[in-house]
Amino acid sequence: SETVERHEFGAEVGRLLDLVVHALYSDREIFLRELVANAADAVDRRRFEALTGAIPAVPEGGAVRVVPDKEARTLTIADPGIGMTKAELATNLGTIARSGTRAFTQSLAEAPAGDRPSLIGQFGVGFYSAFMVADRVEVTSRKAGAEEAWSWASEGRGDFTLSAATREEPGTSIVLHLKEDAADYLEPFRLKSIIRKWADHITIPITVARDGTDEPANEGTALWRKPKSDITPESYTEFYRHLGHVFDEPWATLHWTAEGAIDFTALLFIPGMKPFEAVEGERESRVRLHVRRMFITDEAGLLPNWLRFVHGVVDTEDLPLNVSREMLQATPVLARIRRAVTNRVISELKTRAKEAEDYAKFWENFGTVLKEGLFDSPEHSKDIAQLLRFRSSAVEGWTSLADYVSRMKEGQEAIYVLAGDAPEALAKSPQLEGFRARGVEVLLLSDQIDAFWPERLDRFEEKPIRSVTQGNVDLSKVAAPEGALEEAADVSRLLPLLKDALKDQVSEVRATDRLVGSPVVLAAAEGGPDLQMQRLLARAGR
Ligand code: ADP
Ligand code: MG
Repeated sequence: SETVERHEFGAEVGRLLDLVVHALYSDREIFLRELVANAADAVDRRRFEALTGAIPAVPEGGAVRVVPDKEARTLTIADPGIGMTKAELATNLGTIARSGTRAFTQSLAEAPAGDRPSLIGQFGVGFYSAFMVADRVEVTSRKAGAEEAWSWASEGRGDFTLSAATREEPGTSIVLHLKEDAADYLEPFRLKSIIRKWADHITIPITVARDGTDEPANEGTALWRKPKSDITPESYTEFYRHLGHVFDEPWATLHWTAEGAIDFTALLFIPGMKPFEAVEGERESRVRLHVRRMFITDEAGLLPNWLRFVHGVVDTEDLPLNVSREMLQATPVLARIRRAVTNRVISELKTRAKEAEDYAKFWENFGTVLKEGLFDSPEHSKDIAQLLRFRSSAVEGWTSLADYVSRMKEGQEAIYVLAGDAPEALAKSPQLEGFRARGVEVLLLSDQIDAFWPERLDRFEEKPIRSVTQGNVDLSKVAAPEGALEEAADVSRLLPLLKDALKDQVSEVRATDRLVGSPVVLAAAEGGPDLQMQRLLARAGR
């Protein structure tokens, strides 16, 4: 039928388009990077879905084709990928699904106008960057496995249209009607140089049409397969940005080949910034699994969840190319790779932890995530304990458990911690008085997760870890400096009176050597949850 449906863009898309079209100029060639990356992703996804046989395979030699047409002033990017249904066209290209893009729009709107072009250059804005160079964009797509095709079209203002279309093969074609001042994107030479600059590491063939022939434009050598000495820091960074949809410099780059019991090459990155998609969002590791360079899936769980901030690629010879999801779950090969890769990341962190200032950058971004490992991977909790950093009642900055232990007082039997919501409030807590008076250091824990792990970890270098709010803390063996403590008054007659007055609200009232200036303090029952845990449980309604 000839019906054309008209749809409004989501409000955020409208704002983004406005910024994209009006704010930039200098870096607009990145539209090609964005569209080619989407096309390559779509081919990867189709290849993997086809393994289970449900959809037709990617045709032999299937490439992403970039086709300039000088007469029509159009640039077409076509891929034999997974394609989109009508509904997917409307959602993927009509709303902003990615929280990262949303956060980016925010920072773009807040940036001074002069800074915007470089911001866009750094970040990329996905599909919508097409409107930097085109005043009309048509996307025709046929989902692999479906019979019908649909066309999405827009001039990048308030709305887009959807209409029925025809397409012989599954995949997607994007036709850009180039703006008058964007004619240089019709030059094959220019297109090729952009692709080489931004997309050389994409392993799907990319071609640029010239005089009726498709000429290869990318080298397509998987970066991780090149010898380290042939890789510049810039190409590592570019690859990292492409993988993670991020635009900072990596804090760590790990590139190695394991040979022997199991053969694989890994190229992993630890981000230098906390990603927009806050670590709380995605809970699973997205390290990509390749088999002999071919992308298989980013859902193989190659790293435990508590290392999910690591991006990268693992490429192995030890799995068949047509490995299916089911097989991935069952194969011991993956478990072995996982162990090796996890150990390598831990050892890298241990090495970098020796440089306190440098390590603090990592810790402030991802420390809370790392702590989850204390529950999730008890087999690694000794390693993780060495990587933990804390605020402390005794020293500025971050301190480790090992440093704490080296400062323990004579007669001090445990590592003391106080968990709560804010470090500033913790530092002022009356719970610390007796510890301060005796010069006993207390670690101040203010992450949500801090209420939970000390009990799990239980000990570090044989020293028990105790919450200062627990009733059974015994400081009597630690000598206080002369004059730091007053002679304790005899309160033995007061205690039963208090217990009587508070009735069931407390289980016990007792004298303590933990206080100096304050008359009373709440303590948690021996063996029970500490106070912060009780607060969290109460908040959760339990
Ligand atoms: P991102 O790629 O980061 O998700 P984009 O704005 O670049 O964001 O693309 C939005 C979505 O549109 C993609 O996630 C994908 O689902 C879909 N999409 C874009 N281009 C294609 C394509 N060539 N083939 C299939 N799906 C695509
Ligand atoms: Mg994209």
